[in-house]
Amino acid sequence: MKRIDLRSDTITKPTPAMVNAMMKAEVGDDVLGDDPTVIRLQKKVSERFGKEAGLFVPSGTMSNQIAIRTHTQPGQEIICEMGAHIFNFEGGGPAVLSGVQIRPVKGNYGIMDPEYVEENLRFDDNVHHAPTALIELENTHNRGGGTIIPMKNIQDIRKIADKYELPMHLDGARIWNAHVATHIPLQEYAQYFESVSVCFSKGLGAPVGSMLLGSAEFIHKAKRWRKVFGGGMRQSGYLAAAAEYAFEYHIDRLIEDHARAAFFANELAQMRGLAVNLETVQTNIVMIDVLSIPAAELHHKLMKFGLDILPVSPTRLRAVFHLHIDDEMTERAVNIFERVMSDEC
Ligand SMILES: *Cc1c(COP(=O)(O)O)cnc(C)c1O
Repeated sequence: MKRIDLRSDTITKPTPAMVNAMMKAEVGDDVLGDDPTVIRLQKKVSERFGKEAGLFVPSGTMSNQIAIRTHTQPGQEIICEMGAHIFNFEGGGPAVLSGVQIRPVKGNYGIMDPEYVEENLRFDDNVHHAPTALIELENTHNRGGGTIIPMKNIQDIRKIADKYELPMHLDGARIWNAHVATHIPLQEYAQYFESVSVCFSKGLGAPVGSMLLGSAEFIHKAKRWRKVFGGGMRQSGYLAAAAEYAFEYHIDRLIEDHARAAFFANELAQMRGLAVNLETVQTNIVMIDVLSIPAAELHHKLMKFGLDILPVSPTRLRAVFHLHIDDEMTERAVNIFERVMSDEC
């Protein structure tokens, strides 16, 4: 029987139609600026987000790091939520690549209280301080469990950014998931941020590729940093073709991943020895608290039945629903949990 891989939505392989689009791609040299497929993708995506320009990059990490480098100067500070990807999962990139430090603000499932944001701002009127140069939000919030940052919260934080004339960056690796769940247009999300990073390689199912979006001036500067960071690619139209296919055909279907995640979460929430906070199951991610045994041990037991779920802490597993998971596999995953948990209790 086929192994059920719920470790991440990054594990998907290109579909035959996507491979076909890649094979037919017209390419050029994107460092020299003449790859027609990359140019078309950048135009299409930036238009959907209401931004002047886009920059196709190899990964979400590079996209965020280029944004940070473009917005800041060494010795400055970035405000973000404590569980943010840029703070926890990008290898200390802000310190290494931009010489800036992070001032993390404790949030509630990824949502920062605007008052805390304001309290944590620092200014160059005090020699002791590293002045704030950027406020960063993540939507959906990965560590928060795929939670959606409410529009009101974004607007309130934007007001603070405006008051102090600070730019805002959105890590929108999974902004598509927030968009299909809320029906809020991508452009409406993007309007509150000077820059937005999006990934085609997560739920959308492309093998590689992210994009940084912003004003023409911002992207012009960012392009230099992409080169410096080693992200200038040549015939990247082959990859852009996969991203374009994902962008055209794989956004609306995310709603299916959300429905499967909700079904799975509801079933697991009723099992003894497990706890799932259903309020936080808003998109394609389910965080499972394991009460009876170490999460790693449960992971090992589930693996014996062909179910692979990522332990993200000593007490927690994370399941992510994606393109390669259908209803049958979702039900089978629930059954495997039922079987393993009934042995446990
Ligand atoms: C995956 C992810 C990234 C980084 O993307 P990579 O392409 O893996 O470098 C950034 N932010 C968030 C929220 C992510 O989930």
